Amino acid sequence: MADNNARMQPKSNADPDAQFEALLEKIRTGPHAMDLDRIRAAYEMAREAHSTQKRKDGSPYVTHCIAAADICSDMGLDEDSIVAALLHDVIEDTPLTHADIAKKFGQQVADIVEGVTKLTRVQYTSKEDEQMENLRKMLMAMSKDIRVILIKIADRLHNMRTMDYQSPDKQRSKSLETMEIYAPLAHHLGMQKAKWELEDLSLQYLDPEGYHEIVDNLQSKMTQLEAFMSAMEKKMSDRLQEEGCKATIYGRIKHVYSIYRKMYAQKIDMSSIFDLCAFRIIVDTIPDCYNVLGIIHDMFKPVPGRFKDYISTPKPNMYQSVHTTVIGSEGIPFEVQIRTWDMHATAEYGIAAHWKYKLGDGASTVHEGDEDKFAWVRRLLESQQESDAADFFHNLKIDMFGDEVFVFSPKGDVVNLPAGATPIDFAYTIHSQVGNSMVGAKVNGSIVPYDHVLQNGDIVEIRTSKSAPGPSRDWLNIAKSGSARTKIKQWFKKERREENIIRGRSMLEDELKHSGISPDEALAEEIISPIMKRLSFNAVDDLYAAIGYGGVAVARIVNRVRDELKNAAAERKTAFDKMAQAAERREQQAKKNTKAIHGILVEGLDNCLVKFSRCCTPVPGDDIVGFITRGQGVSIHRRDCMNYQKSIDTENDGRWIRVSWAESITDSYLTTIVIAAKDRSGLVLDIATILNSINAKVRTLTARDVGYGTALTSVTLEVRNVQDLRYIMSRLLSVPGVQSVKRNGQGQS
Ligand code: MN
Repeated sequence: MADNNARMQPKSNADPDAQFEALLEKIRTGPHAMDLDRIRAAYEMAREAHSTQKRKDGSPYVTHCIAAADICSDMGLDEDSIVAALLHDVIEDTPLTHADIAKKFGQQVADIVEGVTKLTRVQYTSKEDEQMENLRKMLMAMSKDIRVILIKIADRLHNMRTMDYQSPDKQRSKSLETMEIYAPLAHHLGMQKAKWELEDLSLQYLDPEGYHEIVDNLQSKMTQLEAFMSAMEKKMSDRLQEEGCKATIYGRIKHVYSIYRKMYAQKIDMSSIFDLCAFRIIVDTIPDCYNVLGIIHDMFKPVPGRFKDYISTPKPNMYQSVHTTVIGSEGIPFEVQIRTWDMHATAEYGIAAHWKYKLGDGASTVHEGDEDKFAWVRRLLESQQESDAADFFHNLKIDMFGDEVFVFSPKGDVVNLPAGATPIDFAYTIHSQVGNSMVGAKVNGSIVPYDHVLQNGDIVEIRTSKSAPGPSRDWLNIAKSGSARTKIKQWFKKERREENIIRGRSMLEDELKHSGISPDEALAEEIISPIMKRLSFNAVDDLYAAIGYGGVAVARIVNRVRDELKNAAAERKTAFDKMAQAAERREQQAKKNTKAIHGILVEGLDNCLVKFSRCCTPVPGDDIVGFITRGQGVSIHRRDCMNYQKSIDTENDGRWIRVSWAESITDSYLTTIVIAAKDRSGLVLDIATILNSINAKVRTLTARDVGYGTALTSVTLEVRNVQDLRYIMSRLLSVPGVQSVKRNGQGQS
């Protein structure tokens, strides 16, 4: 708290040169050599460029640049970072350009300054949590080089420290932004110190009363708390020493915002807040951590449910420690965090410290109070002297969002898209309706083609029109996100059914022809209907439509057709074989069977010899007449038989007599039908399959090509009566390509 008050002193009389010399002296006496002339040149450039500008407190603007560089130096950043921090506002606030900086200090420094400038230009408006998370990710992704974000945090830290001179509106909006963006960023990077300070500074302006209530309360308890803390510290350090445990203990009073958050999250007043103080015990090894934990739990009663092991399960920002809360003397609870020096470095200085250990810098040499403690970057550079410093920072580039891109809507919402996304992806992410009625796109105010690849921080605007033609099929290839493609396909499915059916049909037919399958064959009921059933289509048009809008791959359908055709061919072959065998058996049987034909009554004659004519093969139910042959009894014809019709007006007229069917008939009668069909492969098999499926008793089946692409198939079969026969004939009409089914004796055309 004392620190914060000191920062509020006006700096109108600050002498930038003296301030800079102090910084330079700090760097000079620091553990690592830097090119001090180069740093001085950067300072001079910044001083010159900002010479006419003043801070709100009246001090020369460049004092802010020195302060930011100073914080960066404390964070242990490298020479380029110090140089860039000194120049961090020149692109934004002065006529100097990227090229000016690059010319004097190199590409790296110029890029970093430009990166900081880009972050500064991002428009911020308070949004719901998800938006904030996206905005933070966007800033990280935009930074590319981690030094950009570290300098931005240093910049913000100094601005927050000097916020007293800003207008109340600006204080509030900057504090909100700090609380929602920069403190969480510092947290993500594992920089606890920066996070705490940013949070406490923001809270002062966001809820001054709440802030001061806690500060005053802490002040009033300060004597008591300090006495308590030193007593506890002594107690723990004595005991640890007794146990032969090498450990360093630090006590602190928790930062204001963490107390504030607890009070409001748990709706309790400050007197009920647990653990206002926390101790940190730092040891050499992980086993020591658990050993110390055992000792602490032996000394004090632990509060149930407050033990957390972040050593076995580190936090996402790589934070490791064991936490516990125990009850100290007078029943006052306090928190204890136990960690190794390595874990401590990670907690204090963030992901940067992690890099150092990950690269195997060996056993920890970092100790609290050691000048080296902030020098992780420098040491990292030394540890890989062979490679270029630029390479190192290139590797340190923030690629955690490499597969994502973050852009703004015109309203300032951050939209998260897959890397490589285009305005089409953006439009469909906003709403399907926006995508479907899109007629153009602007990025950062300029019209761009639909396949323009969006960059982090772009402001994307979609122009829509009620009379838009809707998406084109090309968009399916341009869109990067699956959800945009799905929405485009849905549009085609819904809006363009007729078109899809035509398109799907021709796609299927083309693909079938390509595979050597005739569409007629593939679309036969027995082939296509099981396929549609499996894919849950009710009508062939639905299948075409699905192919048309891309919902079903046409190759998939053709594969299925091929399978079904294979099955059907095998089935038909079996059916035909069965039918042929049965016909053969019946033929054999008929030859043996010599019994006389029954079932015919001849008018005026009993027991006369009767036979059925071959020309028209009548069956019971047919209207019949008899012809008295010479010496071979009566021959039975159908009344519609050609031969009968031809002979009634001739000299034979008198030989026709009336005949009729007996009342009860149990025999089967042989008859012949003739099927005219478009000649094609598989026709006879199809006919056989149908006959087999209705159990027709076939005796013979012969087919012949009669030219003009027509085939005649005659089938001789046994039936009981004309009704059975008509049924069989009607079924045969359903065979694809069949044009007519007629009985013999009627003449065929
Ligand atoms: Mn600045």
